[in-house]
Amino acid sequence: SLPSMPCLPRIGFTKRRPFPMAALSDDPVQEWILTEGKATQITGIRPVGGGCINLANRYDTDAGSFFVKTNRSIGPSMFEAEAIGLDAMYETRTIRVPKPFKVGPLRNGGSYIIMEYIEFGSSRSNQSVLGRKLAEMHKAGKSDKGFGFPVNNTVGSRLSYTFQIKMEILFTGQRLIKNMAPLFEDIVIEPCLLHGDLWSGNITSDKNGEPVILDPACYCKLQYIFVPLTDGHNEAEFGMSWCAGFGGSFYTSYFEVMPKRPGFEKRRDLYLLYHYLNHYNLFGSGYRSSAISIIDDYLRMLNA
Ligand code: ADP
Repeated sequence: SLPSMPCLPRIGFTKRRPFPMAALSDDPVQEWILTEGKATQITGIRPVGGGCINLANRYDTDAGSFFVKTNRSIGPSMFEAEAIGLDAMYETRTIRVPKPFKVGPLRNGGSYIIMEYIEFGSSRSNQSVLGRKLAEMHKAGKSDKGFGFPVNNTVGSRLSYTFQIKMEILFTGQRLIKNMAPLFEDIVIEPCLLHGDLWSGNITSDKNGEPVILDPACYCKLQYIFVPLTDGHNEAEFGMSWCAGFGGSFYTSYFEVMPKRPGFEKRRDLYLLYHYLNHYNLFGSGYRSSAISIIDDYLRMLNA
């Protein structure tokens, strides 16, 4: 899900009777579900609303339900990136994320992803459990690959198109980058697995009230830049905190597992800045003044 974006219309259909096996060859989604997915019958397909980019459907079968997203125009690389992100988080066996099963191309262009269907509960996830499990994920997901992106993606080719940050921000931003070393004094940063787009639209809970996180780093999909997950400083995960709804008990529990490092408060806005700039690019000038005032405040504080 994306913040403040008009959603595309969804086309869906409902079919309650089992699908004939003859349909197998033209639909790779059904083909997977009826073979590797271990189902012998698809009993229903229902559209799921809420996303902004892709069509989403729930497939009910005699082997359980599957969540399927399809995109008619974008090739599999977007979903591959999402699957890699989900899989990396899933493999930490900490916070609940849907298990990705299969990504592939559709017959006439476009692509699909099949993943575990999660029945969401009605209550908001418990903040304290969310904080603890997220910290456990960060702790378990220590990266040995260094900082950056674990998959080859299309970032480079699209960056110039997307990052149309105005010159005023570019210049002051560069001054900040040159002078920000004191913010990282006395700490050792070990890169760890990050969700990368942790705001309230991507945080939910399952039927048992256990927190679930979805859709890693999805804001990038809008510009077809695929940053599935970043191996980075754990503090960067709070970069969307202005719209994540983290409460006091979230942070208390988080820091019990991943202790707060010296200078955390000083670095906080720096990580917000990244997302403000990104939102400025994606959603327009509403985020401009927040970005500029963070940069200005830092330059003053750092005497830069
Ligand atoms: P998009 O890629 O278009 O942004 P999302 O990943 O946000 O789509 O998914 C659309 C909606 O489907 C979400 O708002 C959520 O309610 C629901 N959803 C996402 N993942 C699952 C899942 N694994 N199981 C059940 N429902 C899901």
